[in-house]
Amino acid sequence: MVDDHGVRKEIRGDISKIHRLIGLSPLQQAVIRNMFFMSARLPGTRQIRKMIGHLLTGARIVYGVPIFMTVTPSERHSGWSIRFFRARRSDPGVTVGNSEFEPFIGYAVPPLYGSNVDCETCDVELPECDLRRTITHRDPLCALYAFLANVRVVLPHLYGVRMCPDCPHCVQTSSPCMDIFGSNANPIGGSAGRFDALVGAVEAQKAEGVLHLHFFLSVRTNGIPTPHTEGARRNVPYADAKARCLEAVR
Ligand SMILES: [Zn+2]
Repeated sequence: MVDDHGVRKEIRGDISKIHRLIGLSPLQQAVIRNMFFMSARLPGTRQIRKMIGHLLTGARIVYGVPIFMTVTPSERHSGWSIRFFRARRSDPGVTVGNSEFEPFIGYAVPPLYGSNVDCETCDVELPECDLRRTITHRDPLCALYAFLANVRVVLPHLYGVRMCPDCPHCVQTSSPCMDIFGSNANPIGGSAGRFDALVGAVEAQKAEGVLHLHFFLSVRTNGIPTPHTEGARRNVPYADAKARCLEAVR
C-alpha cells in the first residue's frame, strides 16, 4: 500500500487498509467497497467503529464532554459465571465425567445473597479456581452472561445510572429508563458523582478474547439544552439551589 505521505508500506495483515493495496482491479475494489459498506452496521466488525464514532459525537453534543473509562470483569474470579452455568444433571459428562459440577447445577446456585444476617458482610461459597475454570470451559456462554450482568446490572448501580436489559431501545416503549429531560441519572447519583448518560462499546482482547467495555460517562451539568435547564436559567432561585446541589454532589 501507499500511505498518506506517498511511501510504500506492507499492510501486515491489517484488513482495515486492504482497500489501499497497490494493483487492485476495479472488480476487486468494488468487492472491498461492498464489504466495507455491508459490515458498517454489523456488530463485531472493524467498520462499525465509524458508526460508534457518530453515536458518540451525537452524545457529546447533547450531554457535553464525557469521562472515558474501561471495565474488564474477570470471568476467572466471577461468581456470576457459576450462577449462569447450565448443565443437565443426567448428562453422562456430569454423572461420569465431572461429578464435582453437581452442586453448581441449577438456576439459583450459588445464591445471590449470603446467609449473613448483619447486612454488613456477605459470604457466598464458590468452588475453587480450578473447578471454576473447568465450568467456564464446559459452558463458555456462562462467562458471556456474567459479563453482560456485570455491564447491565453492576456497572449502572456503581455509577448511579438507570439501565435495563432493553436499553437504549426502552426509550421507544411506554416505560423508558430515561426521564423526559434525557437523563438516566439516579436521584442520589453513584460512586463518582451523578451521570446523565453512559454510552460504550464492547471489545474483545486479542490474545484470550477477554470481553471488556470502553465507555463514556456524561457528568450531570447545567449545560444540557433541555427545557429543564432552559427553565432553570430563567428561574434564578431554582438555578442557585441547583448549583449548590451540584457542588455538594461533586
Ligand atoms: Zn432501559
